[in-house]
Amino acid sequence: MQKSFTTRSLNIPFPKDDPHRALDMPVYESVAFDFASAEDIAANFRGELPAHVYSRTSNPTVEYFERKMKTLTGAHQALALASGMAAISNTILALCKAGDNIISGNHLFGHTYSLFNQSFANYGLETRFVDTTDPDAVEALIDEKTRLIYFETVTNPQLEIADIEALAAIATKHHILLVADSTVTPPVVFNSKNLGVHIEVMSTTKFISGGATSFGGVILDNGLYDWSLNPNLTQQVEKFGKDAFIARLRKNYYRNTGGSMTAHTAHFQIMGLDMLELRLERCFENCLALGGFLEKHPKVKKVTYPGLKTSADFNLAEKQFSGKPGTIMTFDLESQKACFAFMNQLQIIRRATNLNDNKSLIIHPYSTIYVEFSEEERNEMGIRDTMLRLSVGIEAAADLIADIEQALGQVGR
Ligand SMILES: *Cc1c(COP(=O)(O)O)cnc(C)c1O
Repeated sequence: MQKSFTTRSLNIPFPKDDPHRALDMPVYESVAFDFASAEDIAANFRGELPAHVYSRTSNPTVEYFERKMKTLTGAHQALALASGMAAISNTILALCKAGDNIISGNHLFGHTYSLFNQSFANYGLETRFVDTTDPDAVEALIDEKTRLIYFETVTNPQLEIADIEALAAIATKHHILLVADSTVTPPVVFNSKNLGVHIEVMSTTKFISGGATSFGGVILDNGLYDWSLNPNLTQQVEKFGKDAFIARLRKNYYRNTGGSMTAHTAHFQIMGLDMLELRLERCFENCLALGGFLEKHPKVKKVTYPGLKTSADFNLAEKQFSGKPGTIMTFDLESQKACFAFMNQLQIIRRATNLNDNKSLIIHPYSTIYVEFSEEERNEMGIRDTMLRLSVGIEAAADLIADIEQALGQVGR
C-alpha cells in the first residue's frame, strides 16, 4: 500500500549519510566546497566527478529539498529556485529563443503576465494569450514556432479550471510541451504527471513554504517529453538524453542567471513540505465550512470555490485535484463600498495580498492587484468591484465564521 504523503515526506533518505546521523538535514550554509586534490577538482569540472562545488549551482540542503519534491511527485527531475518567478522565467528561457512563441492562459498571476507580455516580448519571444478552458481556441494558435502551452491549474482570482488532459492531448499531438503552474494546487492534491503535463512549475512561497516562511520555486520535469522534439535543446539531447532540460538549466540558464535557492530557505521549505498535508487539510475543511456559511448569508451575492458541490467546476476539481482545488475562494457583496466596509470590520482575517499563509488573508482585487488595468480589461478578466478574495488559513473555522458574521453584520448600517 502507498504510504501517506506526510509519512513519505518525513522518511525520505538524505542523498549522503550524515556524519553525525542528524535527524534533520543540516543547513549547509557554505558558499564553496573543498576538494581533496587538484586532480579531483579538475575531474569535477570535466563532469567526471559529481560533487557540490559552489552553492549558486548546487548545495546539499537544497539538493535534499529537490530530492523530496522529486520523490513525492514521482517527477523525473526537480530543480529548486529562489522564487516562483525564478522557476517560471528559467523554464521559458531554457525552452525558447527569440522568434519562437508560446501560448498562455489569459488569466495569469500578474507578474507572470507581465513577464510574458513585457519582459520576454523585449527579447523577441511572443506570447499568444488565450482562454485555456477552450482547447479548440488553444489548438488554433499553434504554429511551427510554438514551443509550449502554459496555464495555471486554478486561475486566481477567477478560480477557473482547464481540462488538463485535453490540453495535454493537444500539446502531444503537436509535439510541443504542456507547462503547468500548480502553485494553487500543491502536490498533496495534484499529480501533474498522471494528467500528461510535461513540466510543472510552482511558487513554493505559498503552500509549500509552511506559511509564508520564505520565498521559493520549483521546476519539475515529469520525464514525459522527448527532448529531441525541441530544436533549442539539440546539443543537450546528444550529451544528456532524458536529462536534457535540467542540464540546460543547470549548466546555462539556472547557473548563469543566479536565481538559486539558499540553504536556509531550503530548510524552511523542507519543514513546510513535511507539514503541507496537515495544513492543506485544515484549510480545505475551513473552505467548506466558510463556503456553506457564505452561500446562505443574505448579504453575500455570490460564492466561488470549485470545491463546493454547487460549483460548475466541481467535477473537474474532483477528477484533477482530489476534490481539493486549492484553498482560495472569492465572494461578492453588494458594492465596492460594502466590500471595504466589511474588510475594515474584520478582526481575525488580515488585509494582505499573499496566498496560503497560515493566517487567513483577504483582499479586494479590483482596487489593488488590478488597479493598473482599464475597466474593460478588468471586465475581460472577470475582476468585479464587488468581489473579495479570501485565502483561507488554519485558524478554527468557527472563529473565522464568527469574524465574518460580525463584520457582515456591520455592513450597510
Ligand atoms: C505567487 C505566484 C507566483 C510567483 O511566485 P513568487 O514566489 O512570489 O515569485 C507565480 N504563480 C502563481 C500562481 C502565484 O500565486
